[in-house]
Amino acid sequence: MLNQLIKWIEQSDNIVFFGGAGVSTESGIPDFRSATGLYQMGNRIPPEMILSHDFFNQHTAQFYQFYFEHMIYDDAGANATHLLLAQLEKIGKLKAVITQNIDGLHQLAGSQKVLELHGSTTSYYCTDCQASFDLPTVRQVAQKTAGVPRCQCGGKIKPNVVLYGESLDGAVLNEAVQYISAADMLIVAGTSLVVYPAAGLVDYYRGDKLVLINASKTSYDRRADLLFNSKLGPVVEPLLAHFSA
Ligand code: NAD
Ligand code: ZN
Repeated sequence: MLNQLIKWIEQSDNIVFFGGAGVSTESGIPDFRSATGLYQMGNRIPPEMILSHDFFNQHTAQFYQFYFEHMIYDDAGANATHLLLAQLEKIGKLKAVITQNIDGLHQLAGSQKVLELHGSTTSYYCTDCQASFDLPTVRQVAQKTAGVPRCQCGGKIKPNVVLYGESLDGAVLNEAVQYISAADMLIVAGTSLVVYPAAGLVDYYRGDKLVLINASKTSYDRRADLLFNSKLGPVVEPLLAHFSA
């Protein structure tokens, strides 16, 4: 199976990768739906509710408390999957990484073309005057203003992240559709494929090299041309060695 995947990558020059939270669990960032994911941590309020548009507006201090505790991982670094994708782009095989993640690890690994469907925890803006901020600044400000980071204009500062109840950036989504429709090979990994509209992107792929790598079963398993029901590490590490040589 691994040999088949290597062969396909060697033959390909228009690979697109589509991933989710499972891509970063090996960097120490929990996903939502695994046994050790955020949904199992016995939070009183489900993460989906805390990370929603309405909750942000109505309980901003509580939102940020959860957000800084569970969504920001200062020590997390790129893992073999992030590094492999950056390398495949560098050698002209991969055209784009499309991610549901908000952790910025693909860019940290050196990937250039990254479409962040759900935004990023690395950038922030004022909901009143649209001024932009980085994470260290927002953290500092939050400490001074009772947990709710505020702009100099008095407006609330919001992460540049798509919260539940908000719609995705149409331009980013369109670009993702373009890349997937044109891809000769689509690698989908580390995503439960249950969060829409992101998950529906797979339907735009028209080729015959759909590779699916996921630790648990997904409703797209039957559609895969090559299925690894496995963690990413054991699949990706040999690939990284092969394509870095
Ligand atoms: P999810 O939690 O619903 O699914 C993750 C999937 O990855 C699961 O099916 C799990 O079995 C699989 N998985 C976990 N570790 C794996 C590994 N090492 N190798 C292979 N597979 C592995 O995540 P999702 O589908 O991305 O959707 C949840 C939403 O949560 C996303 O919209 C995302 O924005 C957000 N989120 C992001 C981060 C992040 O930025 N790192 C973390 C948690 C949640
Ligand atoms: Zn402002």
